[in-house]
Formats: sequence, C-alpha cells, structure tokens
Amino acid sequence: MDFSFTEEDLEIRKNVSEFLQRELGPISKNIDNSGIPHDFILKAASQGIIAPVVSSKYNGSNLTFLQSAIIAEEISKVDTSMATSVYFLLDNAWPYIIEKYGNDSIKDELLYDVTSGKKFIGVASTEPSGGSDVAGIKTSGRVEKNRVIINGQKMYISGGMEAYKYGGGHLTLFRTSGTGHSGITMAYVPASALKIEKIENMGRMGISTCIMYYENTEIPDYYIIGDMNRGFYYSMDGFNHARIAVAAACNGLSEKILDLGIDYIKNRSAFGKKLMDFQSISFEAAELRTELEMTKLLTYKAAYLADKNSDELPVYSAMAKLRAPQLALKILKSVMMWYGAYGYTKDAGLERAARGIYSYLVGAEGALNIMKLIISKRIFS
Ligand SMILES: Cc1cc2nc3c(=O)[nH]c(=O)nc-3n(C[C@H](O)[C@H](O)[C@H](O)COP(=O)(O)OP(=O)(O)OC[C@H]3O[C@@H](n4cnc5c(N)ncnc54)[C@H](O)[C@@H]3O)c2cc1C
Repeated sequence: MDFSFTEEDLEIRKNVSEFLQRELGPISKNIDNSGIPHDFILKAASQGIIAPVVSSKYNGSNLTFLQSAIIAEEISKVDTSMATSVYFLLDNAWPYIIEKYGNDSIKDELLYDVTSGKKFIGVASTEPSGGSDVAGIKTSGRVEKNRVIINGQKMYISGGMEAYKYGGGHLTLFRTSGTGHSGITMAYVPASALKIEKIENMGRMGISTCIMYYENTEIPDYYIIGDMNRGFYYSMDGFNHARIAVAAACNGLSEKILDLGIDYIKNRSAFGKKLMDFQSISFEAAELRTELEMTKLLTYKAAYLADKNSDELPVYSAMAKLRAPQLALKILKSVMMWYGAYGYTKDAGLERAARGIYSYLVGAEGALNIMKLIISKRIFS
C-alpha cells in the first residue's frame, strides 16, 4: 500500500492551483451572479483540464481519475460556490462514458469539441416524477429508420443553458422497451434540439439547472451510446465515476474553509486569549481535521479503484459521496461559529458555500439515502 502521490500528481495539483488562483480567483465571487465565463472554460481547456480523463486521441489529457479528483479539489478551493466544480465533474464523467461506450462517429463529432471546451456534456436522467428510481423513468424513445424520436421531460438537469448557449448536450435516458432496469437506452441529445427552461436554485447558481422538454425530438441513431436497452448500466458507470469528483470537490471546499477557520482562531482573541487556546475550539479543529483526512483518503481510494477498473468502485464512490458533503456542511457550521457574527455576513462567503453544498445533500449525483442503499446492498448481499 502506497499513500504517496506521484511526481506527476503533485505537478498537476501545483499547476492547476496556480492557474485557478490566477484565472478563477479574481472572478469566483461573481460566479453566482454572472455564471462561469465561457472564456474561463476555454482557457481551462487550453491547460488540459476540461474532460481531462479523455484520451489523447481526442486531444484529452489522458489523466487518471485520481488526478481528476485532485483537479476537482483545487477548483472548489477557489470557487467555493461549487458551480465550477460541478461543470468540471459532469464534463469529465460523461465524456468518459462517450469514449468508453460510444461509436466512432459520435466520438469524432463530440470529443474534440469537448476537450477544447467548445461543447459541454452533462447527463439527463431525473424526471418530474423522481430521480432516485432511475429504472422508473417515463421518457420514451423509438427508433424509426436511422432516427430516434424522443418524448418526455427531464428535470433538475445541470448545464442545460450552458449547452444551449455554447454548444453540447446531455446523455439522456429514455425507455425503448419493457420495464425496469433493462429497456432503457442512453443517447446524446444536443441542447439545441430542445425547449429548455431554467429553474431558480438557492445555490451554485453559476451553472444552470433546467427542465428539458422532448416533444417528438429527433436525433440521428448514431447518437445512441453503446447498445440499445443498456443505458441504465452506462448511467450507473457514469454516476460511479462522477461521485468521486463530487466528493473530491466537497473535500477541497472543506479544506479551504477549515484552513480559513484555523487561521482565524489563531488570530482572534476573547477573554485575553487566542480562540485556539480554548480547548473547546482547538479540539473541535482537531476532530474536523481528522474527519477531513479520513474522507479524503476514502475519496482517493474510490478514485484508485476507478483507475483499477475495480468492481468495488460503486460502493466506495457511494461511501465518499455519502461522507464528503455532510462533512463539508459540518465544517462550514463550525467555522461559522468560530467566526461569530462575521460568519453570518455575505462577505465571509460561508453561506454561499453552504448553499452550494446543499445540492449534494438533497440529490445531485444521487441522494444520500441512495448512497446508503448502494452500500447496504453490498453489506447484506
Ligand atoms: C442542483 C441539482 C442539480 C442536479 N443536476 C442533475 C443533472 O444534471 N442530471 C440529472 O439527471 N439529475 C440532476 N439532479 C437531480 C438529482 O439527481 C436528484 O435530485 C436525485 O437523484 C434525487 O431525486 P429527486 O430529487 O427526484 O428525489 P426523490 O427520488 O423523489 O427522493 C426524495 C427523497 O426520498 C429519498 N428516497 C428515495 N428513494 C429512497 C429509498 N429507496 N430509500 C430511502 N430513501 C429514499 C431520497 O433520498 C430523497 O431524500 C440535480 C439535482 C440538484 C439538486
């Protein structure tokens, strides 16, 4: 067992961090209001950090999932609203699925544009009737000659507006036969083919969350990913990989906020002592630092298992996704208490981060109870 990062991993962290401090740092506080500037995405792509796990054949960086987790950590240290890390993690896991299961025509059509930042790829699974029960989706598709015709509605879909405005679309799940897990097909649906409506969220507002309407929407049949009726399984593969970066992004945010809090208690005084000299506070910092280390190790292990193509990945990525957002919220709360009234101000930025983290508690990339379902199924199988 080797707990050290490679030279390459360390270099990626350093270079990405420097790039983000320079290019994202000055604009990050405005991202909730003005969105992620497309210009930033193009610059990030030129650094090789958009869809970095895509292979060099499509001008990707051929990075490991561990390295993409390092990037997700660094992004949310700089944009604590979580919007940029969400853009990053979706546009990493789902192009990975295209490269893994898609045909050459769709790979050629999309992946060069994805790695250059020109097209965004997300996932459209959740429907108005629910998101946890993926096998229960109602959107339907039928193949006629060389076209697929889709009808239905998707809800709470990240990146709809960005894909519509700048290019790209979503790997979309729809029923093509039967009921349950089998009979669901996955296809790329360009946002330009759809009517899209934005939902007003409470946080991570720099990336849109949308309703997508499919009204006899037609796409060419080579947009189908892999085999017909296997879409459920491809989507689970995508979610297992996306959850690693969700956890890593939460850990990056946790680390940033905890570091800020520790700096604060080193300098702030009350009753003639530094706050860190009150054990009720320094012990809390010690507990949080320990929990963060545990959660980071768990997340790195999930990434390691992804890179090993291990069948243990679903359980470990679910464990990481279960722990990391809860810990981030716990750290935010503690640091807010240490800050006192300052913590309650918008200037402190803790409320912005908390609003972003809540998206991962309620559902994005799977609700917490669904993570528990995945883990408990493995325990009791
Ligand atoms: C900001 C944001 C962005 C999102 N982006 C996307 C996206 O890009 N693409 C996409 O497809 N979806 C997206 N989603 C939707 C997300 O995947 C769903 O929120 C999630 O899957 C849960 O579905 P639901 O919200 O419909 O809740 P439901 O499935 O209705 O569940 C409601 C509650 O019941 C619980 N529950 C459900 N089933 C069980 C069970 N068997 N046992 C115990 N408890 C259970 C859940 O844990 C949850 O607490 C996004 C959500 C958010 C908040």
